Amino acid sequence: MPEAVIVLEDVSKEFASDPPVVALSKVSLRVEAADYLAIVGPSGSGKSTLLNVLGLLDRPSSGSYRLDGTETTALRDGARTKLRGNRIGFVFQSFHLLAHRSVVENVMLAEIYGRHPRKGRRDRALAALERVGLGHRVGFLPDRLSGGERQRAAIARALVGGPSLLLCDEPTGNLDSHNTEAVLDLFDDLRAQGLTIVVITHEHEVSARAERRVRITDGVLVEEVA
Ligand code: ADP
Ligand code: MG
Repeated sequence: MPEAVIVLEDVSKEFASDPPVVALSKVSLRVEAADYLAIVGPSGSGKSTLLNVLGLLDRPSSGSYRLDGTETTALRDGARTKLRGNRIGFVFQSFHLLAHRSVVENVMLAEIYGRHPRKGRRDRALAALERVGLGHRVGFLPDRLSGGERQRAAIARALVGGPSLLLCDEPTGNLDSHNTEAVLDLFDDLRAQGLTIVVITHEHEVSARAERRVRITDGVLVEEVA
């Protein structure tokens, strides 16, 4: 059996704020290649904290996190940044596109931290935009796009480095139901191409499309049985 993409064992995260907050409490989770997992739970339950840990943006206070077989908790910052750039794509609720850059430039900028040579950067960005169905919008500025097109541009940016794992934090939170549907169709396509997808959401129509659901409440994660 191949190594799972994500293996979390007893991961806890405490913030030393006043008062201190236990945002994750002994979370264990295994996600296989090409899994499609939804993480649901109320506001403040620890979803974004979990995504930040999964995305190597934040370190657990304790516990183990293996990504594609590599124990990440002991890695130095540089190695974590490299692993993140090579393996993980991020999609956020608010798109985070640069307003004064065209769509293709926004996608090209994502590769600055990746493993790829400069040569061919534009072609790879154009290919990623084709993959999300935005080949006809590459020269547009973001404010000329619909919300759904903006999110697809952001997904192209997440894909351009060739990640094996896509981490999405409320990706449809700013979209109407029509555009939500289009983004969910795209996730289905990407998954069929072998990508592993983890999506945080509090929308039922989004979590219902995933293959598997886990619920997080006050930092405690529980698998939902279908
Ligand atoms: P969710 O994404 O489910 O809304 P979060 O993961 O953002 O929840 O937050 C979980 C808990 O951790 C909340 O109580 C939040 O206030 C707290 N928290 C998140 N980030 C920090 C931080 N940097 N410092 C202190 N507390 C934090
Ligand atoms: Mg959140």
